[in-house]
Amino acid sequence: MTHAPLDDHRVHAPADVRPRAGGEFVLYWVQTTHRAHDNFALNFAIEQANALGLPLQVYHGLRHDYPWASDRFHTWILESVADLYADFEAKGINYAFWLDRSVGEYTEWPAGRRGQGEAEKRRNGGAEPQSVSPVPRSPASPTPLVALARRAALVVTDYFPTFIAPRQTRGLARKVETPVIAVESATVVPMAYHQKEQSTARGIRTVLMEALPHYLWPVGNPELKIRRGIELPFDGSAARRLVGTAAGIEALVAGCDVDHSVPPSTTFRGGTRAGRARLAEFLRTGIGNYTEDRNDPNKPDAVSRLSPWLHFGNLSIHEVLLAVREAGPAEQYAKYLDEALTWREVAHNFCHFNPRHRTMDGIPAWARKELSDHEADPRPHLYSLEELEHARTGEELWNAAQRSYLREGWMHNYMRMLWGKTVLQWTPNAAECLRVLEHLNNKYALDGRDPNSYGGIMWIFGKYDRPFYRRPIYGTVRYQSLRAAKDKFDVPAYLAKYRA
Ligand SMILES: Cc1cc2nc3c(=O)[nH]c(=O)nc-3n(C[C@H](O)[C@H](O)[C@H](O)COP(=O)(O)OP(=O)(O)OC[C@H]3O[C@@H](n4cnc5c(N)ncnc54)[C@H](O)[C@@H]3O)c2cc1C
Repeated sequence: MTHAPLDDHRVHAPADVRPRAGGEFVLYWVQTTHRAHDNFALNFAIEQANALGLPLQVYHGLRHDYPWASDRFHTWILESVADLYADFEAKGINYAFWLDRSVGEYTEWPAGRRGQGEAEKRRNGGAEPQSVSPVPRSPASPTPLVALARRAALVVTDYFPTFIAPRQTRGLARKVETPVIAVESATVVPMAYHQKEQSTARGIRTVLMEALPHYLWPVGNPELKIRRGIELPFDGSAARRLVGTAAGIEALVAGCDVDHSVPPSTTFRGGTRAGRARLAEFLRTGIGNYTEDRNDPNKPDAVSRLSPWLHFGNLSIHEVLLAVREAGPAEQYAKYLDEALTWREVAHNFCHFNPRHRTMDGIPAWARKELSDHEADPRPHLYSLEELEHARTGEELWNAAQRSYLREGWMHNYMRMLWGKTVLQWTPNAAECLRVLEHLNNKYALDGRDPNSYGGIMWIFGKYDRPFYRRPIYGTVRYQSLRAAKDKFDVPAYLAKYRA
């Protein structure tokens, strides 16, 4: 085998699916895989278009009304779009991007809030925002996506097991007669291979390691045969021009009704090019000491910091793992593989097989009982969501960690564990803590709203863990202390980096 297989396990298709007769093209609807290479959904769409003798149209819409939509995530996605225009063009594939500002249907999904005052929204000095879609859509007219899907023979989209993707995919399938097929590109081993939810890292590790020789190969990039443009139901030329510069992206974002209080990251930039640059740097300077230094929050270069690009699908996990394997050394690759394969894919497995992954039901029964038994234990302090969000607690180390989310949109793994465990003491019960962590994580983390967000947050409550000695509030769920952190790393250096 020379390529990773695109087998039935990756393809989520309705039974007896047949392309719609008379369709003009195959539509690939980009949701979560923001790349034009190593993309199984794109490959499947190309294969279908070639088999049907049809052209392919890629459609990528960005709405402003998804949960936690902010300048930070919009900027990242628009930076990714700049790369996508260039990369699809180089492949001779039609790529159409639509910055949608119509009123939508997602707002009830999360417990999270969105939206700020109108005054806050207009960051561009009160000037009218850049007009990209000046004509508001009437409720009766179809969205560009629905209009395109109705003309297509087949819609292919990205499979993603959490956040808005599953609902969006079901929503489109209900609205059009054209079959909608979701294809997985996010993991090395497709979810159907597992057949069930795996409750331990050890359990899934065995399965993944058995599957790896079959699945971990470079992803193929097939050629599209029919290269013909199609007529679009919108004019995307203004957005295309504007995403070419940082000022243009800023103007586009300023014109969207998103949360302008969450600014773009100070340190991370979206898109495949930026992701590949970070991967190359990690291979040069980080991987050699990954095992030794990965738990030191003052050494962020020792970890790959690739999670935002993996979350947005700018990079393929196949590309990352194969590059790390090639760069070695073998024992460092083995440790990296355990994080990027075992821990990442157990989280995908959790969200895929457990529709209750955002709720207390996602916590193992023993841990749920322990937390419930200790719910009445006195808390040292109860902080409001606002105090937590703005890093205004009495613990400077916690505040510093929260500031890394506020400013960079990324937090070191060791700090995420301390950060999450501490909030359990500052909230009245585990259910409230879960809502607070979900909100803080998903509002600020570039890599939030991801299966890993739920794997990581549930770990705080005992998932994938064993009982430890009993203590107040936590029961036998593992406790980690901010105070003990001084024995593990140079706390003053971390505080200096993220001071108020
Ligand atoms: C409370 C809490 C919340 C978290 N929220 C998120 C989140 O929203 N998004 C997110 O991607 N990760 C989350 N994690 C997991 C982990 O902290 C990050 O994936 C990791 O810190 C990303 O940094 P990196 O890319 O440098 O990781 P590296 O050490 O370089 O690892 C490479 C890749 O492996 C995966 N990985 C590494 N550690 C873990 C882990 N513990 N669990 C699952 N996958 C892992 C990530 O995809 C990561 O990019 C959370 C962990 C905790 C404890």
